[in-house]
Amino acid sequence: MAKYLIVGGVAGGAGTAARLRRRDEKAEIIMFERGEYISYANCGLPYYAGDVITERSRLFVMTPERFMESLNVEARVLSEVKAINRKAKTITVLDLKKNTEYEERYDTLILSPGASPVRPPIPGIDHPSIMSLRSVSDIDKIKEKVDSPNVKRAVVVGGGFIGLEMAENLKERGLEVSVVEALEQVMNIIDYDLAADVQQHLRAKGVALFLKDGVASFEHHGSIVSVRLASGTLIDAELVILSIGVRPDTAFLKDSGIALAKNGAIKVDEYFTTNDKDIRAVGDAIEFASPLTKVAVTVPLAGPANKQARLCADAIIDGNKKPYTGTIATSIAKIFDMTVASTGLTEKGLKQANLPFRSATTHAGNHAGYYPNTKQLTLKILYHPQSGKIWGAQAVGYDGVDKRIDVISAFIGKEGTVYDLAEFEQAYAPPFSSAKDPVNMVGFIAINTIELLSDTIDWQEAQQLKREGAFMLDVRSAEEYELGAIQGSVNIAHTELRNRLSEIPKDRVIVINCAMGLRGYLAERILRQNGYTQVKNLSGGFKSYDKAVREKELLEHRGQASIKEESAYIDNRNEDGSFRKRTENKISKIDACGLQCPGPIIRLKKEIDNLEQGDRIVMKASDPGFGIDVQSWCKLTGNELISVTTTEGVIEAVVEKGSPDICKMPSSAGEKPAICSTDNGATLIVFSNDLDKALASFVLANGAAASGKKVTMFFTFWGLSVLRKKNTPPVKKDFMGKMFGMMLPKGMEKLSLSSMNMGGMGSAMMKSRMKKKHVDQVHQMFEDAKKVGVKMVACQMSMDIMGIKKEELVDGIEIGGVATYMADASESKVNLFI
Ligand code: FAD
Repeated sequence: MAKYLIVGGVAGGAGTAARLRRRDEKAEIIMFERGEYISYANCGLPYYAGDVITERSRLFVMTPERFMESLNVEARVLSEVKAINRKAKTITVLDLKKNTEYEERYDTLILSPGASPVRPPIPGIDHPSIMSLRSVSDIDKIKEKVDSPNVKRAVVVGGGFIGLEMAENLKERGLEVSVVEALEQVMNIIDYDLAADVQQHLRAKGVALFLKDGVASFEHHGSIVSVRLASGTLIDAELVILSIGVRPDTAFLKDSGIALAKNGAIKVDEYFTTNDKDIRAVGDAIEFASPLTKVAVTVPLAGPANKQARLCADAIIDGNKKPYTGTIATSIAKIFDMTVASTGLTEKGLKQANLPFRSATTHAGNHAGYYPNTKQLTLKILYHPQSGKIWGAQAVGYDGVDKRIDVISAFIGKEGTVYDLAEFEQAYAPPFSSAKDPVNMVGFIAINTIELLSDTIDWQEAQQLKREGAFMLDVRSAEEYELGAIQGSVNIAHTELRNRLSEIPKDRVIVINCAMGLRGYLAERILRQNGYTQVKNLSGGFKSYDKAVREKELLEHRGQASIKEESAYIDNRNEDGSFRKRTENKISKIDACGLQCPGPIIRLKKEIDNLEQGDRIVMKASDPGFGIDVQSWCKLTGNELISVTTTEGVIEAVVEKGSPDICKMPSSAGEKPAICSTDNGATLIVFSNDLDKALASFVLANGAAASGKKVTMFFTFWGLSVLRKKNTPPVKKDFMGKMFGMMLPKGMEKLSLSSMNMGGMGSAMMKSRMKKKHVDQVHQMFEDAKKVGVKMVACQMSMDIMGIKKEELVDGIEIGGVATYMADASESKVNLFI
């Protein structure tokens, strides 16, 4: 009868014990656990502190009694293994209840002692309010503190997943929470551009972030700990959680002769055997070669520990048949409403391993955009630039993040490539996914680079090329550009590109950006096929760039109030924590969820026009760009943004109507919004009677008007058709006038697409798609344009030539000549010909 001893009674230890029993009914199995409990849910501990898990007993998956009852495994708790005597094949155990030591013999010894939190020798770290979290007894102490009415402030040192889970749970319990992180980003398992999203979310939830600022010392003032940072900042708290990493808990192996790595990790082969064939090890305490880099790593995660336990028991029973292939460190965390997940290598890991890589990023909906409650997610993959082998993936979002990362993890595990991602067949119906899932999309983007259809760059490369003098081309619409753009970029919407190629230099590197990357790719294809060779498309578009750059700026200018206001999300409290002035005026609530950009901004403009100074609008929108757009819009228009918060992907902005006299105030009263500028106009010449071009004109005009611009649309030649009434009254015309009258479309309802019209099918499809996507039809846009004050002028000269009479045109139109147009154009910064 074999005798198995196991050190450690939680994930790896209990798992090995259970599998050993299932494979060998006769063996004697004893498990030693230093603590009071075995097989508890360490991953659930933060949620117990946050009162999400309300019953303490739910933390215990097993008890020693149940272990014995169901598995016939003896679990000796409060029993610390102090040494291994390999020659005698015994272990020395300290019975912590009796404080006596004894020896226990083994045939095979399995080590799963886990990893313990790092506590560096920082001055003052011994204060009882500075706690670490690993076990149930740790969380009991933490919870006792949190439950105490005297504990109001907490500092979490370390922005990894345990630190942030604790920050969330402490915040949910009503504490004021600060997170201190020595690196320049939180969640080192993802890259900076995605971490930027998490950081903005944390701030939006009221967590104060101190990045790139390590703890220099802890100062004690009775029950209060003052955390002094390297920058000199001092943060007072009644509770400090230290969460700055873990180290293999292997001090007891020091004199055992078992081979350990520099960090104390136990070295094992693919059957978990140490340098002693009768001693095996699993879990957080071992190091094993990464299947991706072939470099030995320690990965302190529960999934690998549990799987290793099963394989280890099988290797003992079967005699080393199924080798372990290593872990790619797939992990996930909930940070308030957000989900953050990653698998495989990050950019940092790839650089350290000196492996060639490229990235592809998509910002997509978790399911079909037209189906309600779409939430945005950002998915990024890293892959080999030539073979397309997937190195890693990371995602941040609100729903469906786990699914995408799990799928890609499976492909990485099987050494898959980006071609596998492109072909991946998902279970699709609108509430669950899209016909082209984000996983497919990142595959497509990557394949385009491998097949040299596209050359993507990330936000840092874009910054570098900009510094080196690249031509920065922004191909979004004018109103998107107006709401924020890369400094120095030139705006030519991708739809205009073919007609404006002469404005783009051929002898410079062209860096294209759109909002998310897709239109940038379309523009890149146009340029490449027109002889441009040095063209780069910004991966993830302005959205990725802007978030990362804002975070960097915030970091560089920390402490400066002006930059603080630039942050993506602001809350409605003053520096001292008090709430900003409350208004007695009217408060209107608007739900613009489901509207796409610039729909929410237009809606906001419409509503605010009906309010008095000091009235407020509380507006909800699901368009993820709204959080940033509303800030720019308020700046442009002189309205005050009181707060912006997000909950489960829905952005809520509170905007207070500004003074109507803001432009009349003296300059000494402060900077005036752009709306006061005398050349604050935009003119559009609408020359075409194509449905798509008419739509584009109204989108641009309405967006510009919503941003406070004085907009004139000048309809000339075929563009006059847009203004024709559906049922034209009988009017007297000459022969040519009658001919034109018959040939021209009768009004906006009858316009056709400029291409792919397919006898009207294309136009019908476009209208139905717009309806599904909640985009207004052209007649609605026309009505909106009137409401937001767009001036629409029909060209007198064209009307004369084409025999069109005033009575044939819709109401609310001015008839004017070139002089009217020129007068307005001279006051415009933007002048478009469509
Ligand atoms: P452990 O589970 O830590 O077990 C080791 C046990 O060995 C300990 O109980 C220890 O007391 C005992 N021991 C050590 N030395 C001796 C000795 N000399 N004698 C006797 N007993 C000894 N992972 C995830 O994948 N997802 C998560 O969401 C997640 N959340 C976590 C949240 C928290 C708060 C913590 C602390 C960890 C979390 N983890 C998570 C990590 C996960 O819990 C570990 O990866 C996993 O438990 C490792 O299993 P293990 O058996 O190696 O070590």
